[in-house]
Amino acid sequence: MEIPNYTQAILKALEAAGHEAWCVGGCVRDTLLGRTPEDWDVTTSALPEETLAVFGSQARPTGLKHGTVTVRTPEGPVEVTTYRIDGTYRDRRRPDSVAFTASLEEDLARRDFTVNAIALNLRGEFRDPFGGRADLKRNSLRCVGDPDRRFQEDALRILRGLRFASVLRLEEDPATGGAMERNRALLEAIAPERIQAELVKLLCGPGAGQALERHPNIPGVFWPEILPMVDFDQQNIHHCYDVWRHSLAALIETPPIPVLRCAALLHDIGKPSTFTIDTQGTGHFYGHAKASAALADAMLRRLKFPNEFRERTVRLVEWHDRDIPRTGKGIRRALRALGEEDLRLLLALKRGDNLAQDPAYWSRQWEIRKGELLLDQLLAEDACFSLRQLAVKGGDLLALGWQGPAVGAALNQLLEQVVDGALPNEREALLAYICRSGPGGPKEAPPV
Ligand code: ATP
Ligand code: MG
Repeated sequence: MEIPNYTQAILKALEAAGHEAWCVGGCVRDTLLGRTPEDWDVTTSALPEETLAVFGSQARPTGLKHGTVTVRTPEGPVEVTTYRIDGTYRDRRRPDSVAFTASLEEDLARRDFTVNAIALNLRGEFRDPFGGRADLKRNSLRCVGDPDRRFQEDALRILRGLRFASVLRLEEDPATGGAMERNRALLEAIAPERIQAELVKLLCGPGAGQALERHPNIPGVFWPEILPMVDFDQQNIHHCYDVWRHSLAALIETPPIPVLRCAALLHDIGKPSTFTIDTQGTGHFYGHAKASAALADAMLRRLKFPNEFRERTVRLVEWHDRDIPRTGKGIRRALRALGEEDLRLLLALKRGDNLAQDPAYWSRQWEIRKGELLLDQLLAEDACFSLRQLAVKGGDLLALGWQGPAVGAALNQLLEQVVDGALPNEREALLAYICRSGPGGPKEAPPV
């Protein structure tokens, strides 16, 4: 197993000074899985001041209370943390105190899951006292020690667990999964920002569908709006899944982009509250997209998502079942409203939504593809769909005597005509038109 040179150099320097030093945590786990680790963490018997002494000006005491020193290298920073034991967790979030220890095993014992409690040294030796490698082999997620106690110490671990299950395609060992369920209400005490960060990673993992299908009650703690979707029978021939499984199926059929995955999860969340059944016994959900958007907005606010993320997600939810006509006009109008990036996301959401319906309706995939092909073509032709691209600018209208808000109104009116294909995006034609019929401007045609 290859430890990158810059990390090897750190291990060597610590060992040369008489200390033990091991790579640990996510980097060892990811390497064993054949994934490229995001960063390499080192754990050492050296006390923080000893680590600082070994690396001199290369090192910064970034988290001394927890024993962490950051060593800068040209390839990026490496966190070097002293072996430690965590004290009690009064607030269920952070240990009240930490104590340093000379024992690697004790340091590994404080870690959350067995797959995160494997250490690897320069000579390729492993320390794996909790069987993390065996768990990785059987794709099993298991707590180090007693799962109830570990989740009671730090409830965020429940969501981290679901995140690892999703990202690494693991399944919770029964004892761990049971404890996740039993202790889930403790998540109420966790800061929304931390929940949000874990949730986004969870949603973007390849196993998000299975992880959430096993544990709807866990996100149900902070997003109880999810719960009515579970097992909600749609009673509609388009659908072969209940609302929850349909949402998860749509989610796994979309690319792992946070806004998109979030929109996929929430796109039908307004269905249970808008459900009606007609005299034939068929279920309908009139107005569900709007209802879903309103719920999604409140849910994303609760977890303190950034405004831009929330607004984009809510707009995708609101638009998810609007028909985007596969015509130049239809695509240009959607481009004007959403912009290129979000229109592409909307089409991806529609594709996922359709694939999550009864296969009898998958023929609609071709309609969505046609929309994308037309979008590519229009963009390649430099089609006009924004004020930035319009051949007439505010300055042109000011020069002709337009003033104040009439300028913006006139530009928007012109853009609408161009988007709808009623006028070419050409300066003369646009000026001639707006002088004839614009709001509040001079009513004579400009000199051509
Ligand atoms: P990634 O960086 O890919 O998200 P990671 O496993 O490296 O995953 P980090 O949050 O970077 O996760 O933490 C590094 C290591 O510290 C973990 O592998 C685990 O051993 C330990 N750890 C992190 N958070 C906790 C926690 N809440 N409880 C117990 N141990 C933890
Ligand atoms: Mg990490």
